[in-house]
Amino acid sequence: MAKVAIITGGGRGIGAATAILAAKKGYDVCINYASDVGRAEETAIACREQGVLAQAVRADIASSLAVEGLFQRCCEELGPPTLLVNNAGVIGKASTVQDLSDSVLHRTYEVNVYGAFYCARAAIKRMSKENGGEGGVIINISSLAATLGSPGEYVHYAASKAAIDTMTVGLAKEVGSLGIRVNAVQAGTVDTDIHRLEGNPERPAMVAKSAPLGRVATRQDIAEAVMWLASDSASYATGTVLRLSGGL
Ligand code: NAP
Repeated sequence: MAKVAIITGGGRGIGAATAILAAKKGYDVCINYASDVGRAEETAIACREQGVLAQAVRADIASSLAVEGLFQRCCEELGPPTLLVNNAGVIGKASTVQDLSDSVLHRTYEVNVYGAFYCARAAIKRMSKENGGEGGVIINISSLAATLGSPGEYVHYAASKAAIDTMTVGLAKEVGSLGIRVNAVQAGTVDTDIHRLEGNPERPAMVAKSAPLGRVATRQDIAEAVMWLASDSASYATGTVLRLSGGL
């Protein structure tokens, strides 16, 4: 089977680590990003150094039109995807629900939920064995917040990730017979830019203090789990929501 991966939000953070690991495992990689072309091109270079093809493609996944363009570019230059990692996501400014702004609420769901659905839909059309595809794997990056709820700061975000967990379970049942596996990784806190960009740079250090393993996750920890779920070693895993939170 050809190995072509689309990683949304693959320019930096968990997505970049996943893109580079996918390249090490022989995938040609389509690295989607929203605005940071420099980081996305750096990630594409790191992938090419592994001897595979890589492209950086700008697309706001909150737009179904842009997602269709992303998948078309991937198909034209790399071939149809056999792996989709729904990784791009936003937290939005920390807020109680009482003080939550419409704009944060809408953007969180447009990116984290609608974006994941747009990408899954575009991937299934191309992966489905009923449509002449080769089958494939979809992996959604969820969050431990989906089960903890994140009161007082990120209930809107936590609930958007719970939607992704439910999508994982239902979609796995819907598309198993089409040759497609669907799984999710519920990541605990990971030391990436997302915290700094949302105005909470000290969060990873604070969480580490109460973490059973004495640290938060690295980007690599999450990437390894994603690529295991993508591999043939996990061929019986579908509808699985894998909690990877260092015991939290
Ligand atoms: P990050 O470092 O902030 O990276 C986010 C990536 O998503 C960037 O490449 C960004 O593109 C891209 N992106 C954001 N909005 C987008 C959009 N509308 N369309 C396309 N791309 C978009 O974040 P991260 O920490 O790696 O998070 C990745 C995923 O893991 C998210 O779904 C997040 O919710 C989840 N997660 C993170 C943690 C954590 O503690 N870090 C914990 C649990 C789950 P640009 O570079 O162009 O801005």
